[in-house]
Amino acid sequence: MPDLIKVAKFGGTSMANAEAMHRCAEIIAKDPDKKIIVVSATSGTTNLLTQICESQVGVEKDALLNELRSKHSAICDDLKNSNEVRLRVTTLLDELEAYISSRKTITAGDQDEILSFGERLSSTIFTNILQEKVAGAKWVDAREVMITDDTHGSAEPNIDQIAKRAKGKWLPLFKNHCLITQGFIGSTENGVTTTLGRGGSDYSAALYAEAIEADVLEIWTDVSAVYTTDPRIVKDARPITEISFDEAAELSVFGAKVLHPATLKPAIRKRIKVYVGSSMNPELPGTWIVKETKSNPVIRAISLRRKQTLLNVHSLDMLHRSGYLARLFEVLAKYKISVDLVTTSEVSVSLTLDTDIQSAEKNKLTPEVLAELRTFSDVNIDRDLSLIALVGNNLHATAGLSGPVFGALQDINIRLICHGASSHNLCFLVKEDQAEEVVQILHKKFITSKTNETTE
Ligand code: ADP
Ligand code: ASP
Ligand code: MG
Repeated sequence: MPDLIKVAKFGGTSMANAEAMHRCAEIIAKDPDKKIIVVSATSGTTNLLTQICESQVGVEKDALLNELRSKHSAICDDLKNSNEVRLRVTTLLDELEAYISSRKTITAGDQDEILSFGERLSSTIFTNILQEKVAGAKWVDAREVMITDDTHGSAEPNIDQIAKRAKGKWLPLFKNHCLITQGFIGSTENGVTTTLGRGGSDYSAALYAEAIEADVLEIWTDVSAVYTTDPRIVKDARPITEISFDEAAELSVFGAKVLHPATLKPAIRKRIKVYVGSSMNPELPGTWIVKETKSNPVIRAISLRRKQTLLNVHSLDMLHRSGYLARLFEVLAKYKISVDLVTTSEVSVSLTLDTDIQSAEKNKLTPEVLAELRTFSDVNIDRDLSLIALVGNNLHATAGLSGPVFGALQDINIRLICHGASSHNLCFLVKEDQAEEVVQILHKKFITSKTNETTE
């Protein structure tokens, strides 16, 4: 048994083509402690499969399937011993095609089954590549271990079952093997395929790390580290060397796509150190996410979450009466609408709902919900908003913080502010079309102009 056990996850861009896969294989071959390798579908594949599920037109479905075939076949073309793997890939694609044609309509369960092919294909090809460099590389089916409930599209993992199965089925193989498995996908106890939600491979890897009590969880992606903000929005965003679990969890929950929002929960439960690095440039220093950091700056990073909806509820009944908020939340709970931020005044309440692709359906303000709310309140809704979060330490207890923050945004209409509820963030809503500019202004003022204290 190795001294250290590491779980390493490689994302979609890391699996994009044969060259990218070879780079990931190099990273694994250099470190025998990496015992479980979790891979995503090749980049763009889950989107393609989603489009197939949504398409109502036969020829369009066929065209999308062909695109999927040529994409994977092109990767096989670049492999040395391609015959065997090409056969496996073709068999999987034929199975997918047969599954799709056997369905008149696609249920949420069918969609999970269809999406699972993305990770099953990439992991099959990647195992072949890794076997050239690592003698004991072995493909294993995530669905034998990742047991979840049957909430298709965003299944809830069963932590105890996952631990039991990972320890029973996978741990004994570590002596002679390096296991390659699929992120994102799981199965109910009855063997029905499920998925953990978009971007869920990070979460899968964290759950496996927890299950086998790994020492380190590694997330290899297309950026070299967790940055002070999304480097696509701010060109001079800086890589962060070390960040605490609490800060990184807030960053991911508030929109930093580099980590799926649930990833750190298992790591925090088992105190597993997390490393984020670039599979393209593994030599660049990445980010360590740890329980306690050496420096604790007030503002470490800034995140942006798009597609937020603001629900404003107003009623004079609220004035000096009890039970109004309970009634409001009772209605929202009845329709399973999940609320993120809340601010209240004497006679009105503002709530934010996440309405991005993942949550739009769940948090839909249907005519039924609105009618029920309107029996006791005036209601109005603002859409196309973004949530900006300043993430760091002790923000709730730092005097003189909000002046400079909102002073820098004098020309911006700010719709809702949450400050003081969490020591790790200050967040507010702005219009979607101003959100990137807001991040740029704040990054320049609070991060670029400072010393390195945020990134150490
Ligand atoms: P993967 O396919 O490896 O899972 P993702 O695309 O899901 O990769 O996540 C990586 C992306 O996250 C980066 O390309 C970057 O644009 C985005 N991102 C958003 N916020 C941050 C941040 N604070 N630090 C680093 N990357 C970020
Ligand atoms: N392939 C899935 C997705 O694109 C899961 C992941 O990449 O993490 O959402
Ligand atoms: Mg991701």
